[in-house]
Amino acid sequence: MSAFFTRVIEWQRKHGRHDLPWQGADAYRVWLSEIMLQQTQVATVIPYFQKFVTSFPDIPALASATEEQVLTHWSGLGYYSRARNLHRSAQQIMQQHGGEFPASFDDMLALPGIGRSTAAAISALVFKQRRAILDGNVKRVLARHLAVQGWTGEKKIEAQLWTHAEARLPEKNIAAYTQGMMDLGATICTRSKPHCNECPVQSDCAGFKQGQVSKLPVTRSRKLVPERHSTFLLLLDGSEILLEKRPGSGIWGGLWCPPQIEDGQGVLADYVQRSGIEVCERIDLAEFTHTFTHFKLHITPVLLRVAHKPIQVQQSGSEWMNVQQALHSAIPTPVRKMLQQISF
Ligand code: SF4
Repeated sequence: MSAFFTRVIEWQRKHGRHDLPWQGADAYRVWLSEIMLQQTQVATVIPYFQKFVTSFPDIPALASATEEQVLTHWSGLGYYSRARNLHRSAQQIMQQHGGEFPASFDDMLALPGIGRSTAAAISALVFKQRRAILDGNVKRVLARHLAVQGWTGEKKIEAQLWTHAEARLPEKNIAAYTQGMMDLGATICTRSKPHCNECPVQSDCAGFKQGQVSKLPVTRSRKLVPERHSTFLLLLDGSEILLEKRPGSGIWGGLWCPPQIEDGQGVLADYVQRSGIEVCERIDLAEFTHTFTHFKLHITPVLLRVAHKPIQVQQSGSEWMNVQQALHSAIPTPVRKMLQQISF
């Protein structure tokens, strides 16, 4: 049997993916794709990637954009700290590396939002450096191939997987191997219903031999996901809605959202009174749930048509925006859903 890496490389050449828009591109595009692909599927990423590089074709263009412009292009992709870090990194690259993406692994790690696996992927794919990646897909392939009995997020298990990932690296063809590991995880050794019969490393896959594929990787003992409830106030004056810019950090940092109040008796009435709002009409819109990685947010959108723009709620960081214009601004997915319900 040939070496693990030989089988992965040969399989990648014949059956792997070769037409992704960032393949064979410059470091900037590969970096952008790696950041966009974190927690996100390829099919979702492609249109965002294309629009992003059309507007910001290189690092200087990204660095000189405003955060608002960058977040607008990220609107709907989620995990917005990725976009803020990308923007900050581009500015850091301008200052420290003359606008050239650094080829040094340590310099990459010093950029905001770039971790060990992302730096390794860029090093291997672009600069052909011999580095191991360990993203979610690769963790799954290795955990099954080695029949690792432990949650892959646990420090000790993760350290074991890094050791194995490094031990399997080829001396040559690092880019094809790295792409092969990514492709294997994404298309063959998939989370559910893996295609073991088409897998180039099935013959020595311990998980397969032991009939444990469906049980691997071991999942974390189930913790209850916390649930929160919030009311969002869609204050409408004609076709304009009041939106507030969230502070720079946090899940929706830098994005536009309608005023959010906690659920509870009298909270809405208090807000209306405190803000001096004269409500002409109230419509309770359909409630829905948005799931984050660590909690679920139950959202109650309440549409309040106001007689005029109240002075008290026009603080700095707030803006009355035309609903159509708001739909093209930096807003998170749940806000888009709410605005779509009231756009006409
Ligand atoms: Fe994954 Fe199946 Fe291949 Fe093992 S044989 S690496 S479980 S696809």
